[in-house]
Amino acid sequence: MSNYPIFGCYYYPNSSQHIKSYAHLSHEQITLVDSENTTLLASTIDNCQLDSPLPGMASELNFADGGRFIPQDVEFRWPFALKEHGLSERLEKNKILIVASVLLIPLLLWLILYRLIPSVAVYSVNLAPASTIETMGEQTLSVIEKVALEPSQLSTNKQSEIQQQWRLMLNSLNLDSAKFRLSFYQSDYFSANAFALPNGRVVVTDELVDLLKNDPDALRAILLHEIGHVQHHHSIRLAAQAAASTVVFAVIFGDLEGILEVVLGSGSSFLQQAFSRDMEQEADVYAIKNLLKLGYSNHDFADAIEALENNLQAQEGSYDDTWLKYLSTHPSSQERIEYARQYKPQ
Ligand SMILES: [Zn+2]
Repeated sequence: MSNYPIFGCYYYPNSSQHIKSYAHLSHEQITLVDSENTTLLASTIDNCQLDSPLPGMASELNFADGGRFIPQDVEFRWPFALKEHGLSERLEKNKILIVASVLLIPLLLWLILYRLIPSVAVYSVNLAPASTIETMGEQTLSVIEKVALEPSQLSTNKQSEIQQQWRLMLNSLNLDSAKFRLSFYQSDYFSANAFALPNGRVVVTDELVDLLKNDPDALRAILLHEIGHVQHHHSIRLAAQAAASTVVFAVIFGDLEGILEVVLGSGSSFLQQAFSRDMEQEADVYAIKNLLKLGYSNHDFADAIEALENNLQAQEGSYDDTWLKYLSTHPSSQERIEYARQYKPQ
């Protein structure tokens, strides 16, 4: 028996009738006695239940038969409860921990969405059958075709000339020509632009071919940049991220329509997708390295970005925001130009 009885009130089972009493604790046993030292109740500690106590409130002990004992001292905590309830009470008391968790939860979400899921997606891409990615890419293209692409106006000669350069380049880099296909479209929406679908199809607009018509090496540099996006699985990483964030936010905010949108809207979301700075840089490095491997110059890539940048400046004002697209999906041109010009192979 404990030397220090705990003074409090014993409430009879399912009743508001109560009596002042003392609780005696031993290791496994709790005994309640009244002021005459007559035993009111004896129970093993395992058969008792504690309400999770809040700061400033007494820690109420509930017995199996429905009786309750409430210590008079609101600060009193049952020694056997320390392990069980200590943590939640400490958390509630500790404002620093509360503030930290408010900050840590978004950080954790960010890590999961932007670091963990993209890397898991990349890993699973290697396990996914090529036919799935092929279907995904072609379906995305047919959505974009409906919304933003018109048949190419380029001459057959011009098209086959570029296609021939493309095949030569694929051969020299040991890339599968069944996977990497080049398509031409006219597009007011994309204007002078190129983009790659996850299955390896690269789309080039007539406007881009026109812009670089006197600089085939610069066009090659852009095409290599797009191949870089495919080789690094950037679209798939973004799609996984978008899907996962929608699901996470839908769960948090209870927005089920969002989930439906993810399932139905993967094609149109491609139009809004923007690669991260890191992804752009990865694709730039891929392009520059392979230009050098093919015996061309790192300056070809810088020239290509410069041509796009100059074209943008010249057109500014006469075009509205659609014109900003290439450079908004490909940020900080000046940095990229300098990086390419100063590139030294390791
Ligand atoms: Zn890019």
